[in-house]
Amino acid sequence: TVVMKFGGTSVADAERIKRAAARIVAKREAGSRVVVVLSARGKETDRLIADALEISPVPEPREMDMLLSTGERVSCALAAMAISDMGHRAISLTGSQAGIVTDTSHTKARILDVRADRIMKALDDDNIVLVAGFQGVSTAKDVTTLGRGGSDTTAVALAAAINADVCEIYTDVAGVFNADPRIVPTARKLDTVSFDEMLEMSASGAGVLQLRSVEYARNHGVRIHCRSSFEDTPGTVILSEAETMEHPLITAVTHSTGEARVTLVGLPDTPGIAGRVTTALAEANVNVDMIIQNEPQTTDAKAEMSFTVPRDDMLAARAALAPIAEEFNIQLQADEAMGKVSIVGAGMKSHPGVAAKVFTTLGENGINIQMISTSPIRISCVVPGDKVPDAVRALHAAFELS
Ligand code: ADP
Ligand code: MG
Repeated sequence: TVVMKFGGTSVADAERIKRAAARIVAKREAGSRVVVVLSARGKETDRLIADALEISPVPEPREMDMLLSTGERVSCALAAMAISDMGHRAISLTGSQAGIVTDTSHTKARILDVRADRIMKALDDDNIVLVAGFQGVSTAKDVTTLGRGGSDTTAVALAAAINADVCEIYTDVAGVFNADPRIVPTARKLDTVSFDEMLEMSASGAGVLQLRSVEYARNHGVRIHCRSSFEDTPGTVILSEAETMEHPLITAVTHSTGEARVTLVGLPDTPGIAGRVTTALAEANVNVDMIIQNEPQTTDAKAEMSFTVPRDDMLAARAALAPIAEEFNIQLQADEAMGKVSIVGAGMKSHPGVAAKVFTTLGENGINIQMISTSPIRISCVVPGDKVPDAVRALHAAFELS
């Protein structure tokens, strides 16, 4: 059994849906049982979000999910029609019908369970099964969605549940590259990437695979194969560290532009205040990335704490912090035009001097580093948002990744 997932660009219009259908049918005719996960067509999800914001500035998350989950259903129904016309049995299912059970965090729900019996039955009845990506049904029986890129996670979760041989992610690029090919034209396609490196890449902005999907695949031992929908090329396989063939010092440069930096000025000298702040953000489901706390160096200076959050979470972050800011008379400053550039590579563990090269390279290119964070296999720098493309290209060149 194979799970094939097609992203938004790959099903953007009738022509592309037919092309995807031909690819799906070819896989079936080669002897595999096939489950397909589809995204909404092209910019459909963005259009739906715009529709909602035209009606209401703060739409209810539950109703957003009801709205946003429609796009994938359209893709699946159309693809099922295309496949039938090619002489194969096909059935489309919503996430709920496919048995994807999630928690109740609307607009960024997590999959709790996959009850795949209906899919299995449909496969046994010789169907190609098309499942609407990005969505599920909550434990409270409401429609939920899984956040940006969530169809990747739908595909991996189904692959795990039905014990598929592979989860193929078909997208608009030829695989995982060592930098976003839209920003670095000389970026190279990688044949293999380890789970550990892919986790760091997805977490630091490589949107080609949703972070949750990589975590899920690692935890459940699902093999991910990322490849082009438009040409039949080998793509990229995500493997365990031991199986990976490529061991360069640095595997990839990644970036994100949607970062906001929050600074809390005038933190009281109370034990546990950092805990209060981060707990409030966690309860509001805001992902805090880099955190820096400054002790006052002189008696009249104020203690500060800075951290980054996704820009889309700024409203939620402000709301979560307002009571604490009021209680302790803390001033909240936000800079929403920040970006982040990272280098990822298992090889850096055994090579000191990588950080120095990153900082020197950015400095020589006149790029100011505002915050830094690291893991054993990643170094990330927060930089002004408009400097991100230059920073990515400079690091790609400095580490000779072309
Ligand atoms: P889909 O709609 O198929 O899910 P996405 O837009 O989510 O497609 O992901 C594919 C895009 O990810 C590419 O068009 C590319 O611009 C971007 N991308 C960012 N970083 C990378 C990378 N390291 N390798 C490949 N693609 C990347
Ligand atoms: Mg995607």
